[in-house]
Parts: sequence; structure tokens; C-alpha cells
Amino acid sequence: MRLSRYFLPVLKENPAEAQIVSHRYMLRAGMIKQQAAGIYSWLPLGFKVLRKLENIVHEEQQRAGHIPLLMPTLQSADLWRESGRYDDYGEEMLRIKDRHGRDMLYGPTNEEMITDIFRANVSSYKDLPLTLYHIQWKFRDEIRPRFGVMRGREFFMKDGYNFDLTKEDALHAYNRHLVSYLRTYERMGMQAIPMRADSGPIGGDDTHEFLVLADTGESEVFYDSAVTDIRLGARDINYDDKAQCQAIMEEFTALYARTDETHDEALFNQIPEERRRSARGIEVGQIFYFGTKYSEPMGATVQGPDGKQVPVHMGSHGIGVSRLVGAIIEASHDDKGIIWPEGVTPFHCGIVNLKQGDEAADAACDKIYAALTAVGLDPLYDDTQERAGGKFATMDLIGLPWRITVGPRGLKNGVVELTSRRSGESVELSPEEAVKKVA
Ligand code: ATP
Ligand code: MG
Ligand code: MG
Ligand code: MG
Repeated sequence: MRLSRYFLPVLKENPAEAQIVSHRYMLRAGMIKQQAAGIYSWLPLGFKVLRKLENIVHEEQQRAGHIPLLMPTLQSADLWRESGRYDDYGEEMLRIKDRHGRDMLYGPTNEEMITDIFRANVSSYKDLPLTLYHIQWKFRDEIRPRFGVMRGREFFMKDGYNFDLTKEDALHAYNRHLVSYLRTYERMGMQAIPMRADSGPIGGDDTHEFLVLADTGESEVFYDSAVTDIRLGARDINYDDKAQCQAIMEEFTALYARTDETHDEALFNQIPEERRRSARGIEVGQIFYFGTKYSEPMGATVQGPDGKQVPVHMGSHGIGVSRLVGAIIEASHDDKGIIWPEGVTPFHCGIVNLKQGDEAADAACDKIYAALTAVGLDPLYDDTQERAGGKFATMDLIGLPWRITVGPRGLKNGVVELTSRRSGESVELSPEEAVKKVA
């Protein structure tokens, strides 16, 4: 993409309404625009990152054997009356009447709808196990939307639902989700720690939240510092292997890590003192096992091997995709701007032309652009007339991992400058070598 043809409305000044760094940088980098409290347009740069996260979530869910579908944002209140949650859910649910006076709602989550889809179409244990998921906009009328996309009212969430014959199978689905979530966050360049949590209005016994440690997080967390040393890394995972998924779940949840809702001071004090940590965290996902809480009242049963009808065991599993955009920035930035992890960056490399209109510089930039594109990378070429300082400031703000700076003086010696956004280090290289390093 050439910047002169792109839409990147960067702001020079810090917007007064932004209290935390991710919100500030998302506004300044022209990623989002607020349309109403907690409701945002995703401008091209922000939309690109959101799509990247969405793709990673899809890939990792499908790798785990989970099947994508798409449910609508608007739901009929009747389904929620069946589960009893229409009255229970409270003020966070946006309730709407259609022209015929029917009660509708903008879905805050989809347990009822997916259970309805299941009961209409599945009747035998032979069709299990089954896990369906979608990535769709949700609405929760948060009392205090704040911190930009971190606590929006309309937000983008992956929610998946497993249907199993037995509790044991449903717990395997739980473990599968835990492992696939760990992979997902690691691919996004993030560490999200599974912590024992409280199940809230979803209900259920077993639940973990995934938390990214950050001072601006809204959750209070307590953990053994040794949990931050565990990584999934590039292990081979067989999602059908119950024992392997169980072992990974145990490995990641054995050490003390809890949110304030389930914090237990006595247990916490058993950790060696130098490893006890209390901190703040951002909730970027949560998994639940809740058994027959929805299948029973809504009649989602299957015929078991013995011919008897039994309600299915279920769980639901969410990832806050739009919140993650903010969480990644909270975890990865400096005083000049965002520092995108390679896996989620909106463009792979910036090209800065120090003297637009200089024949040699223009030609060298075009060549580098073509070479990067040819190897499948997505460069952003600043071909505007802006002075060098302004171009650098914009590149630092939008946080691409690499910048190639091209000017007539360097070109006389056959070199361009390659700069790493994360380390700030620059090296002079031939254009070909610079492209090779980025690729
Ligand atoms: P929170 O405790 O932050 O209110 P939650 O526990 O109510 O979140 P869940 O029902 O567990 O949320 O939804 C799954 C995920 O959706 C959360 O882990 C979070 O990442 C994301 N999420 C929830 N509410 C919001 C929101 N208002 N804005 C952006 N993302 C959200
Ligand atoms: Mg909430
Ligand atoms: Mg929560
Ligand atoms: Mg939650």
C-alpha cells in the first residue's frame, strides 16, 4: 500500500478522552473512531489488525476440530425466556421491540441460540462430540464503557459451544479449548495466563479466565511468579488425544493463579514468599463447563447408546477479539507508539522515502516495494511529501516491526537503512539484503 492512496488519519495531539495508552494510540494511529459511547468504527488500519486476530482465532479453532458457523446479532427474546435468562440477565442486555411489538435483543452471548440450533438438528449420540463456534459482534450495555475497545458496548467476540454425551467428554472439550487458546494468544505475541475464576451469569462449575498482565487491567489477580515461565511453544498437539490435552491443562493450571473472585489467602500464603505476586490483568478470554444448565430446560437431548434420551453436556468458550487489539498494545508499546508483534502487525514493513521525487530514491523504493510484495509481504510505502521527521514519527506510532529508509545519500553508497521497531537498532545494507532480512 502506498500511503498517498491509503486512509490513515493520524492525530498529532493526544486525545483528551483517552485514559490509557492503548486507547490513546489507537485513536492517534487512526485505527478507530468512536461513534457513540462504547461503539466504534474500525478504520482501515484498525480493521486490518482486527481481521488478523480473527484469522488466527479461526485457524486455531479449526485446528482443534471446532466448526465455524455464523449466528445473527439480533435474537428473539422467546429463546431466553426458555432458559430463564431473559429476566436474569439485567441491564446489560439491550432490549428492542420490532414493528410488530415482538421482544428482540442484541445478543450479549449465544448459549440459547446455539442450543436451539443443536436441538433442532441433532438427536443421536453418534453425532457427538460436536463443537460449533462463531466470531460475531456482541452488545452489552456496559454501565461504564471505557478504555476504548477494551470495554466497549458493541464488541467482537469468538464464542464456541461444545456438545458432548458425557461429562468426561465435555471436560476434554474444555481442555481442548484451553490448549487452543494458549496457542492463539502465543501466536498473537501475548502471554495470557489461565486463572481460576468465577462463572458469573453464564453459570457452571469449572471455569478459567485468560489474563494478560498489565497495570491498566481491570481485574485484580494473584499468582505464583513461576506460571509466567511456562510456554506452549511449538509442541506437537493432537487435539483428539485426551491424555495430552489433560496434561497440558494440568501443567498450565497447577500453580496458583486466581482472580480476586476466587482468591484464597491461605492457599496463596503457601507459595514461597519471593514468588507471590499480586497484579492487574486484562481478561482476554474465558472457558466454562456448565453441564446440562441449558440443555435440560431447553430440551437439548440425544438418544444414548442404551436408547435413552439424555441431555447433552455443554460448555462455552469466549475470546475477546476486539479487546485483544487494545490488550496487545497495552503489552507492547513505548513512548513513541505501538510495537506490533510480527503475527498481528497490520503491515510487515514500512518504507520511508526521504526524498520523494528524487529519481534514484523513488526507483529504489519501488523496487523494494515490489520485492517485498513478491515474497508475500505487505509493505506500507510512505510516498508522501511530508518531511523525514514526520514520516518517522508516523511509522513509530503505527508500530510496524521493520522500517526501510531510502535516501539519495545512502543510495550513492549502495545502501538503505533497516530499523527494527522493537530494538530501535538500525543497520545499513544493500536494498536486496534489507528485503531478505525482513522476509
Ligand atoms: P468482563 O469481566 O471484562 O466484563 P466478561 O467476563 O463479562 O468480561 P465473558 O462473558 O467472559 O466476558 O466474554 C468473553 C470475552 O469477551 C471476555 O473474556 C472479554 O475478553 C470479552 N469481553 C467481554 N465484555 C467485553 C466488552 N464490554 N468489551 C470488549 N470485550 C469484552
Ligand atoms: Mg462483563
Ligand atoms: Mg469477567
Ligand atoms: Mg468472563
